[in-house]
Amino acid sequence: MKKQVRVRFAPSPTGPLHIGGVRTALYNYLFAKKNNGKFILRIEDTDQERTVAGAEEYITNALKWCGIEFDEGYKIGGEYAPYKQSERKSIYRQYAMQLIDSGNAYYAFDSAEELDEMRKKLIAAKVPTPQYNSVTRMTMRNSCTLPAEEVKRLLDEGHPYVIRLKVPRKEDVRLKDIIRGWIVVHSSQIDDKVLLKSDGMPTYHLANIVDDHLMKITHVIRGEEWLPSAPLHVLLYRFLGWEDTMPEFAHLPLLLRPDGNGKLSKRDGDQMGMPVFPLEWKNPETNEMAMGYRESGYFPEAFINFLVLLGWNPGHEKEIFTMQELIQEFSLERVGKSGARFDPNKVKWFNQQYLKSYPDSMLADYFLLTLKEKKIECIREKAEKICGAMKERAFFLSDLLVDSGYFFFPPKEYPTELIKKVWHTEANGYLEKLMTTFEKINTFTVSDTENMFNEFIKINNIPKGKLLSPLRLSLTGILTGPSVFEICEILGKEEVRRRIKNACNSINLSTHKSSQ
Ligand code: GLU
Repeated sequence: MKKQVRVRFAPSPTGPLHIGGVRTALYNYLFAKKNNGKFILRIEDTDQERTVAGAEEYITNALKWCGIEFDEGYKIGGEYAPYKQSERKSIYRQYAMQLIDSGNAYYAFDSAEELDEMRKKLIAAKVPTPQYNSVTRMTMRNSCTLPAEEVKRLLDEGHPYVIRLKVPRKEDVRLKDIIRGWIVVHSSQIDDKVLLKSDGMPTYHLANIVDDHLMKITHVIRGEEWLPSAPLHVLLYRFLGWEDTMPEFAHLPLLLRPDGNGKLSKRDGDQMGMPVFPLEWKNPETNEMAMGYRESGYFPEAFINFLVLLGWNPGHEKEIFTMQELIQEFSLERVGKSGARFDPNKVKWFNQQYLKSYPDSMLADYFLLTLKEKKIECIREKAEKICGAMKERAFFLSDLLVDSGYFFFPPKEYPTELIKKVWHTEANGYLEKLMTTFEKINTFTVSDTENMFNEFIKINNIPKGKLLSPLRLSLTGILTGPSVFEICEILGKEEVRRRIKNACNSINLSTHKSSQ
């Protein structure tokens, strides 16, 4: 029988979740759903010094906003609880001891000064990256160099120690990555990493491997920054006797800055005026605020749609996907190796596409709410029509309100530069005549006014722009916006009449001409 797919998202609560982290969670989620598997949330907080207050809550809220759901894990529960590593502290030690007993790990008693001295010596000897490894370990104070009685004495007397992995001296460590293929690293490149710290806490490496094993994780899907740790993890699986059930690995490509130079950071986001976090975040220490996609007016669906394509491609032209479609189509084989460039215009484009696709009635719910806040009265039917007319040009919901003021208030003035641009000596006459024609229509719909207008300019031999732009200016006081006929329908015949009259009375071309 095929093993059930079990994947996990294992963030360290050291701050808000970067969009790269959201993408990792998303790919794990899609992979789990596609394969009828389980998706687990595990909090990796073994580095207590770097743990930041509020970060766990932020992570869970952010993923919820994105529509990424877990089957098991922190604050959800499950068969392998607890899912927070600081609550599992007692579990890890026995595995560190098992590694000592099998000769694959050792006690190290070196003080910070001794370690520093070793580093300095190696740098002086022109070793570019000083390591605690199979060669240098023999010059240090540990259970590989000290006599057994001395080790026992130090332990009995309670001297501080760490447990380090005993990395073999000469060996090729191999692993197969689903995205990158075979990776071979020589063991001389791998440090004798600390597994258990002097305070008894495991390091990331030990806790991560132990938990992935105990929680029966079948695939480790994580960011490329963890690729250098993967050979070490392979050694740990082998030394703990878990090679047969070792998960498969998939290391995701980096998210790059728009120019392709380097990893996308918060600073890049600030420079572009774009968030790099899903939700707004207030740094509890500095009170500094970081922008969030949610607060900047992005829809979670648009954000997810944008994010999924940073690294994965469906192999065809389609760009808009629902979560269900993504679940159907996603595969790790279609995730690229090279870094994915962040394109701030693209995320705005996605938001626009989603906004346009939402029914007018849904947009009107929001629109009516904001109008109410501004104490502007409006019936639902009109609100829906305004949303329908404005949504083509809007990127964000808030854009629906910007520039739509003329639907509620007649223009107070007609800017001189616009008058100069579109008004002409015959404009007043044409408009008055047009209004007389409009009076004949009983229903004042988009097509009624548009047909009437077209007939009118044809009979009177008026170039379209010569009448359309002055009409727009009369009705709205500006020259941009949705179709003039949509505006006519929303305003209604009476209001159109009033506005045309008002514009013709107020726009005196001779005064504008003389001010030129
Ligand atoms: N705790 C690690 C992180 O913060 C998890 C890495 C992994 O998935 O193995 O990203």
